[in-house]
Amino acid sequence: MYYCRFCGHETKEELDACPKCGELFGKTELTHNDARKLVQTLHKNETFSREKSDAAMVFIILGIISLILGALFFVLAYKLADANALVRTLSTTAFEFWVALFLLAVGATILVYGLIVLVIHFSRLKRLSLKIEEIRAFYLGKDQ
Ligand SMILES: [Zn+2]
Repeated sequence: MYYCRFCGHETKEELDACPKCGELFGKTELTHNDARKLVQTLHKNETFSREKSDAAMVFIILGIISLILGALFFVLAYKLADANALVRTLSTTAFEFWVALFLLAVGATILVYGLIVLVIHFSRLKRLSLKIEEIRAFYLGKDQ
């Protein structure tokens, strides 16, 4: 087993370049064909990361909506204790209170999950596009 020292990707054979992050190993020059294949692989990884980033954005938006709804239900959980009460107090026995807790917990969870996925894949995306540009400039000139 060989491991890329830049991203940790595992390969069965020793390669000239990492198929995951595009980092070139050693001083071996890539052939035009190898460079083209590598760019294609990196493009696939780039598309994967772009899809993940888009999905993360959906999670973030759903998380925010869930948090807003949770806050609304939390306000609704403030109730008058009895007919003579002048101020509303938080009623932990109210149905709204438990809905609020549920929505806040779910909202926070998917928001954090979305943010983590976005950070990971967005930085990967940036790195891959730079790498693709680099390989194109060095090995493929203007023909791709
Ligand atoms: Zn790598």
